[in-house]
Parts: sequence; C-alpha cells; structure tokens
Amino acid sequence: MHGLYMSFLYNPPVAVEKQRLVSPAGQESEPLKMRPTHLSEMIGQDRVRDNLSILIQAAKAREEPLDHVLIHGPPGLGKTTLAHILANEMGSNLKITSGPAIERAGDLAAILTNLQSIDILFIDEIHRLGHAVEEILYPAMEEFALDLTIGKGPSARSIRLRLPKFTVVGATTRMALLTAPLRARFGAVHRLDFYELSSMKTIVARAADILEVVIDSEGVEEIACRARGTPRVALRLLRRVRDYAEVRADGNITRPVAIEALALLDIDDLGLDDSDRRVLATVIEKYDGGPVGLQTIAASLSEEPDTIMDVVEPYLLQLGFIDRTPQGRVATPLAYEHMGLKPPSSHQPHLPEL
Ligand code: ADP
Repeated sequence: MHGLYMSFLYNPPVAVEKQRLVSPAGQESEPLKMRPTHLSEMIGQDRVRDNLSILIQAAKAREEPLDHVLIHGPPGLGKTTLAHILANEMGSNLKITSGPAIERAGDLAAILTNLQSIDILFIDEIHRLGHAVEEILYPAMEEFALDLTIGKGPSARSIRLRLPKFTVVGATTRMALLTAPLRARFGAVHRLDFYELSSMKTIVARAADILEVVIDSEGVEEIACRARGTPRVALRLLRRVRDYAEVRADGNITRPVAIEALALLDIDDLGLDDSDRRVLATVIEKYDGGPVGLQTIAASLSEEPDTIMDVVEPYLLQLGFIDRTPQGRVATPLAYEHMGLKPPSSHQPHLPEL
C-alpha cells in the first residue's frame, strides 16, 4: 500500500533515476504542453522566477552562457521544469542526467565532451554524485576544462581538454548533503517552496484546460487544497479524479465528485494519505509523541529513511504536525488533533533543531 502510494503520488527519486539518462528530450508521460516552457507560464515561486529572469537577461545581454544554477526543495515542485524553462529561454539544448546515473568519472567525461557551447546540463539528485565524479566536475564548471589522467604508475600523465562554455543546472532534495566545494561552484542557488493555495488552484485549472477536463471552480479548489502544495501531486490527483468522474459521474468534476474520488483514494482533507498517517501514528502511539529518531520511525514502518525524509516529512513539517528537535521528531498538538487524539497535557513546544 505504502509503495503504491509513493509511485502514485510522487515518482520518488529512486523510481525516476533510471529513466533520466542523458537525453535531450527527457522522459515525459504527460502531454508536452503540460510542462510550462517559459518563465512567464510558470505559476507561483515569484521570487525564484524574478531572480532567474534577471540571470537570463543578463547572460543574454553579455552573450554568455548562464551562470551555474542550483535548485533545491522537496520533490515535485518544479526543479526539472525550471531546467527546461532555462534551456528554452536561453535557446540552448538541455541534456538530462542524475547523480546516481553518473557512476564513474569516465561517464561524466563522456557527457561533458559531448556538450556544445551554451548547452545546459541538468543533474538531478546532484547530492548523490560520487567523490571521483565531483573532482572532474569542479574544473569543468569553473574553468571549462577536463583534466584526464592517461596511463598508470610512473608513466601516467595528465592532459587538459578544453570544454565548450556550458551551464550546470543542479537539483537536489537534500541541500545539506551537498559538499561545500560543489555548492560553491554555483553562482545562483534557489529554493523552491510548497505552493500557495492560489497558485495551486491556477495550476489545477490550467492542467484541466490542457487535458480538456470539465471541472468547476469548487472542484478545482477541492483538488488544489489536497495536493500538498505540490504541482506533481495536483496533476496526479486531477487525473485520478477525472477517471472517477468518467466512470461514476457524467465526466464533470464538481466538489462532491472530487470529495468522493479522493475519499476512495484515502486522501484526507489536508492531502494526507495512509503513509503520512502511519508516520504520525508511529510517533504518537508507538513512541508517545516523540522525540524519536528518523531511523527508528523508518524501521518501525519497514520504510527507507530517505523516503520518509524526502517524501513524507517535508509536508508534515510544513503543516506543523512534526517538530524536528536535536533528540528526534516530535508530534505536535496539531498532529494529535488531526489524528482525532487528545494531545498529552504536558506537551511543551520544542526548540527547533539548529
Ligand atoms: P521536480 O523536478 O522538482 O521533482 P518537476 O519539475 O518534475 O518537479 O514538476 C513536477 C510536475 O509538476 C511536472 O509535471 C510539471 O509539469 C508540473 N509543474 C511543476 N511546477 C509547475 C508550475 N509552476 N506550474 C505548472 N506546473 C508545474
């Protein structure tokens, strides 16, 4: 059930990484029009959009490639979309790869030597690059040079190849795992936050328009409210609610139809599903509200700690259902309330983790 939910809602990094080999087109199962292609079409994230717009205009005016850009934030908020947008706005080719896909230094060398001037190399999950690969990336990003060692032992020698001036767009869900030297190579670093409700409504309405789904404004609102501030979730929910509307209603999505469909999918009014509730229930019932370590929660649920940290926890933190303390995760009174439980009277607000 848990695994099903994960692939249904998020395409977690583990599931997508194999598809994201170097490819100018990337892998898309949605209508091409669905992904915004220009900054002006991107909804929400105003601060990031404004900053990137300046970066693009300045690079174009100087007739130079874009500075290297690092985008971080939870999955499904538009990191890959922004890489596509940057390439479109610059009129560049986009090559897509990911940290785990580049296993050896030679893999990266092959990618780099195939780049052309002003190309954008998108590296998803960039925090998962190996040390040897990172060592090749540093001079490539800084000096557009590839240092190769030929031969072994005393006869080994180093040669330097010039690379075309290109741009790395890195994406990560785990900023803290990025090494300091790699982070320092990026001229622009931006964080994507969960979207506000008004942006989510626009995203759902736009997607419904593209998919030619008949939906009223209350139906849009119901889906937008439960999509966890995450466009990818909104698009998935819209598709599932559309299926329901076609099979059980007359194809039109109204608020009651959306509510029935989402109830059947076990998604509650805040967008939490079985997996989220199991995490909350574990902290509250098994560990008395915490503090409890992430590893322990993961072990109790037979789940990967990474999945909980990347996919489940960010939204629970955003809702204020969980606090991160130096001793571990703590369920807040809001979480108890949402689970229909009475918070312990001794509950003290915990200091945030430094
Ligand atoms: P990430 O790389 O952060 O996991 P993606 O860029 O793959 O996220 O975005 C997930 C989905 O959400 C894509 O289908 C994309 O089209 C859509 N999307 C993301 N951001 C927006 C936005 N601002 N407006 C409309 N759709 C968006």
